[in-house]
Amino acid sequence: MSLAQWLSDLAANEQETIDDRRYLHAHPELSFQEKETAAFILKKLHQYGITDVTTNVGNGYGMVAKITGGEPGPTVALRADFDALAITEETDVDFVSKNIGVMHACGHDVHTASLLSVARVLQKHRQSLKGNVVLLHQNAEEVMPGGAKSMVEAGALEGVDYVFGIHVAANLPKGQIGYASSYATAAADSFQIDIQGKGGHAANPHQTVDSIIIASQMITDLQTLVSRKVDPTAPAVLTFAGVEAGGTAYNIIADTATIRGTIRTLDSQVRALMKESMLRLVPHIAEIQGGQAEVSYTDGYPSVKNTAAEVDLLVKTMTRQFGEENIIKLPVMMGGEDFAYFLEEKPGAFFCVGGENKEIEATYPHHHPKFKLDEQCLHQSGQAFLALVAQYLL
Ligand SMILES: [Zn+2]
Ligand SMILES: [Zn+2]
Repeated sequence: MSLAQWLSDLAANEQETIDDRRYLHAHPELSFQEKETAAFILKKLHQYGITDVTTNVGNGYGMVAKITGGEPGPTVALRADFDALAITEETDVDFVSKNIGVMHACGHDVHTASLLSVARVLQKHRQSLKGNVVLLHQNAEEVMPGGAKSMVEAGALEGVDYVFGIHVAANLPKGQIGYASSYATAAADSFQIDIQGKGGHAANPHQTVDSIIIASQMITDLQTLVSRKVDPTAPAVLTFAGVEAGGTAYNIIADTATIRGTIRTLDSQVRALMKESMLRLVPHIAEIQGGQAEVSYTDGYPSVKNTAAEVDLLVKTMTRQFGEENIIKLPVMMGGEDFAYFLEEKPGAFFCVGGENKEIEATYPHHHPKFKLDEQCLHQSGQAFLALVAQYLL
């Protein structure tokens, strides 16, 4: 058996894969509500003869299916997320969303249809596999806390040796594969600081605790965490995105103040340092002025960190498959991705398949009402997954 045979089977099924993707696109469901989508996936897996399927894995409709090879060997997991977004679609495609207000505006419909096409081919040739394949059909990537973490906790990666995930990309030209050699995305945490002072007349500051003074001190002091505490070779961003205090009057000292913002890091130790330092410093800064403050801190997804050996194999495999000119090294994307949780457990890589095409206006960013992809990325994602699996199991 050869990769060429797998790829020719994949190509033979291409129209059905396109139809599947268009069906999913027309019937999007929000995160944690993907009941019909999960049922569609299950129906397809059964149709292909894949019966080792566990449904409702984790905190929602996540699904884990296993294809057991004819001979022993490593187990490779492939992930596709399947949730959509609360966006009203504004594209001109004839498979436009029928679920008004909900749209597959991130390409998860493509991920799902392409993984199904890969599953079909691998199931057909399972006897010749030297090892196994685990299909991770993941719920709720777009909304915290996401589905990945809970799927891992429910045992989705038991017996898995390697894990790979694809994200299609509307900002990468069609035909191209993008990868990051280590960190692919940043951890994106958010916080709100609530400051309690003591209001009063602007003419009598000595009788008040000015929450605006406390807020401004916090803004400057906390910024020094980045400039003075964090190793300068490890990126950290602290952004205060909003400050609210006082009203429109000229003569009132503000009673309370609120600061909101985000902390973005790559390294997990830097991330912990930033969080701990903020939680420790904020009450003290307020106390010095006689006020009080507390932080509500929300942990976002951790950063996606690819492992070196698997990135190496990925680059070699993709270069052979698609040509050196189509393999692009990408900078870190600052958006979050809960694929991070899979890579915290197992070696592997998360990479991009391009779907940008100016001729069909597939140029809008992800999460935009006019988001569109060149469907070439659907087939190419399948080819990429099969080529990778072949490296481990043929
Ligand atoms: Zn998204
Ligand atoms: Zn996405």
